[in-house]
Amino acid sequence: MDVVSPEKRSDMMSSIKGRNTRPEMQVRAYLHAHGLRFRLHRKDLPGRPDLVLPKHRVAVFVHGCFWHRHRGCKFATRPSTREDFWQQKFARNVERDLENQEALLGAGWRLLIIWECGLKNNLNLEVALQWIKSGQGGMLTLPLVKTSAPVS
Ligand code: ZN
Repeated sequence: MDVVSPEKRSDMMSSIKGRNTRPEMQVRAYLHAHGLRFRLHRKDLPGRPDLVLPKHRVAVFVHGCFWHRHRGCKFATRPSTREDFWQQKFARNVERDLENQEALLGAGWRLLIIWECGLKNNLNLEVALQWIKSGQGGMLTLPLVKTSAPVS
C-alpha cells in the first residue's frame, strides 16, 4: 500500500533535488504570464540559477528558507538531532550561495533572490516584475519585509 500519493512523492523528490520545485514553478508561471521569457538552470553560470532572463540580464534564485537559511524566518528551523551535521551542511549552503552571488554580480548579472516564504504574497512577485523591467542593477532580495520574523 502506497501511503504517499504520486503527486506528493514527486514534490518530495523535486525538493530533494532542488530543481523544478513548486515555488520555482510559481515564479515561472507568474513571469511567463507577464510576457517575460527565460532559460532554466543554465549550467554555465555560477550556482546554476533557477531562471535566467537573458534580455534583462537577470539571474533568479528561488531559495527554500530551510535549506538556504533565511535569516529571521520561521521556516529556517533547526533540526534538534545531529546538530553538528546540520550546522556544517547549512554553513556550506550559505557559503556556496554567497560565492555564486558574488560571481554573478561580478560578471555583470543582475540578481534576484526570492525566498520561498515571500511567495505566499503575490505582491512580492509584482515587485520582482517591476524590478526586472526597471533595469536597475545589483541585487534584489524578496520579500523586502519579513512577515514571519520571530518575536524575540
Ligand atoms: Zn523565509
